[in-house]
Amino acid sequence: MSKLAIKGGPKVREKPFPSWPIWDESDCQALVDVCRSGQWWSVGGTKVKEFEEKFAEYCGCKVGVCVPNGTIALVVALKALGIGYADEVIVTPYTFIASASSVLQCNAIPIFVDIDPETYNIDPSKIEAAITEKTKAIMAVHIAGLPCDMDAITEIARKHNLKVIEDCAQAHAAEWKHRRVGSFGDAGAFSFQASKNLTSGEGGIVVTTDVEVGDRAWSIHNVGRVRDGAWYHHPVMGSNYRMTEFQAAILLNQMKKLDAETARRNENARYLTERLSKIDGIKPLKRDERVTTHAYHIYIFRYLAEETTGVPRSKFIEALNAEGIPCSSGYVPLYRSGMFDIDPDACPVGCPFYGKRIVYKDLYLENCERACEREAVWIMQSVLLGDRKDMDDIADAVEKVMSNLAELRE
Ligand SMILES: *Cc1c(COP(=O)(O)O)cnc(C)c1O
Repeated sequence: MSKLAIKGGPKVREKPFPSWPIWDESDCQALVDVCRSGQWWSVGGTKVKEFEEKFAEYCGCKVGVCVPNGTIALVVALKALGIGYADEVIVTPYTFIASASSVLQCNAIPIFVDIDPETYNIDPSKIEAAITEKTKAIMAVHIAGLPCDMDAITEIARKHNLKVIEDCAQAHAAEWKHRRVGSFGDAGAFSFQASKNLTSGEGGIVVTTDVEVGDRAWSIHNVGRVRDGAWYHHPVMGSNYRMTEFQAAILLNQMKKLDAETARRNENARYLTERLSKIDGIKPLKRDERVTTHAYHIYIFRYLAEETTGVPRSKFIEALNAEGIPCSSGYVPLYRSGMFDIDPDACPVGCPFYGKRIVYKDLYLENCERACEREAVWIMQSVLLGDRKDMDDIADAVEKVMSNLAELRE
């Protein structure tokens, strides 16, 4: 008789895991309060302003500028740092599309550098080889909520006089050597989209320790006005990227739980890592000891049994899902997405001012390919908000599937 649930055996778990977002009456009240106040937009309001100050301070930054989403936060951060035509920005291919599409939206050129096979973050030892006379910035994407090696990245940037933008969309509250992400680079960008560890459905913020960069971001997000300038005075090229008071009211309320939720995820993830590390063919991603807080937007572990057993990751994931464990395979290499099948002779990549020719679809970055094709297994953040028994269910299910892989072979 089959043991695995996918073959008709009993499931490890019937109960659902915590859903997301987690909310209560106080969130509803926050919305009703803004509604009744009649102050729905940020100009003249208090909620966006209060959240910008609180969140910037939380990240160890001086300025925060709220925007409609994380993609726009990246665009505004890049523009505020002067990234534009024919500038190259070094970025990981193992991330959400916005990390690279934001660069193209500034008419700049994303240059992909492979990931570290053990952390899935950009491999700092491969960055210098990608630096050219056109390179203006490194984007450090803290993937899954695991901070990049910020010692190495800030050192390379200093040596080559490059800007650093941190994509912190998955890394609220994450710390590298007790310092929160967003404060290492020249600017940091966060997302508050529905899946993120702090959410208002949609939303984003640019944070920076540099007041001048903050002022430029503010101008870009407020149709090119300057702080304390006249209403119809638009000296800067910008757009309307303002957040509403409703979003900020929710964020202020949700933010009260961020530390407790982050601590819970860290505790559960450490326990899960302990258990999964003992299973043959399974390897959780490496957590550098300089990572003092991981945001665990995603808990990622590596499935390494494909070569030895012939059972592909897709089968393993289906079997785990059938046991009652929600998990998925995650990204494809960004340069393989349809949008990078772009005409190498058209702007911005084929811009005559750039003077080079890049064909993204010819790229093959080995570690990223392997992670995407064969290895990565993702468990989303809300699953880590349960208790230890939940973690035992996950580990028990992985153990069960791994010791019955033979059932999946035919
Ligand atoms: C979610 C995400 C973004 C974009 O944020 P949106 O608010 O969805 O626009 C950017 N980068 C990464 C790594 C993300 O996960």
